Amino acid sequence: MNIILLGPPGAGKGTQSAGLVERHGMKQLSTGDMLRAAVKAQTPVGIKAKAVMDRGELVSDEIVSDLIDAELEAMGAETGAIFDGYPRTAAQADSLDEILAKHGRSLDHVIELGVDEDALVERITGRFSCANCGALYHDTANPTSKEGVCDNCGNTEFKRRPDDNEETVRKRMQEYRAKTAPILPGYEARNIVTRVDGMAAIDEVAGAIDAILG
Ligand code: ADP
Ligand code: ADP
Ligand code: ZN
Repeated sequence: MNIILLGPPGAGKGTQSAGLVERHGMKQLSTGDMLRAAVKAQTPVGIKAKAVMDRGELVSDEIVSDLIDAELEAMGAETGAIFDGYPRTAAQADSLDEILAKHGRSLDHVIELGVDEDALVERITGRFSCANCGALYHDTANPTSKEGVCDNCGNTEFKRRPDDNEETVRKRMQEYRAKTAPILPGYEARNIVTRVDGMAAIDEVAGAIDAILG
């Protein structure tokens, strides 16, 4: 099974990917996470990507498609892939088809998480994650059960992304509208798109996704 989670920043792609990994043993392929790891490790890709990410713009298609290709190369053929935050442009959507074919895979579902824009800003500005295991939280919508302690691993340090501020979020939404939303019709023509209400509670969204995967 190979699926794309598609939606604007803050729609819940990372949160739902984590649930799918846990429930179905799939692997999350998040280009955002891969790029942040490259920035942290100060690799040539990371050094190039950092300023672009801080502005809320998109890094080059070639960089992200190469990252995805390398991850699929390293994965067992039987493990399902969740594409989170990729593809984000028409060129990336074309590359994904080629990369999947090369690895003997094909796309089963594109799940579109629909959310209102006002809610997105609030989600992004309240987002934080565990500095140890990466578990995702939100100040009000999804806090840790015990204040200051990660539910998943017990760690007490958390972090916030430098690009999770209102100004950058607006730019990221513009990028989504201009470059990412236009890839949907191509997938719709292939009859593989299902829209899920991303404004519902996290476990309800998870239930809707599981119903699609069958
Ligand atoms: P994305 O990966 O699409 O950018 P995330 O999964 O990181 O989005 O979610 C953004 C923020 O919104 C996080 O702080 C997360 O805890 C919170 N969140 C995710 N899904 C929901 C939901 N269904 N309802 C309320 N808050 C949510
Ligand atoms: P979110 O889901 O909150 O929008 P991501 O973690 O997916 O954020 O992406 C963070 C940033 O990394 C993006 O704003 C962009 O600069 C870069 N990025 C991630 N994935 C891609 C991609 N597929 N194409 C181009 N840039 C990307
Ligand atoms: Zn943790």
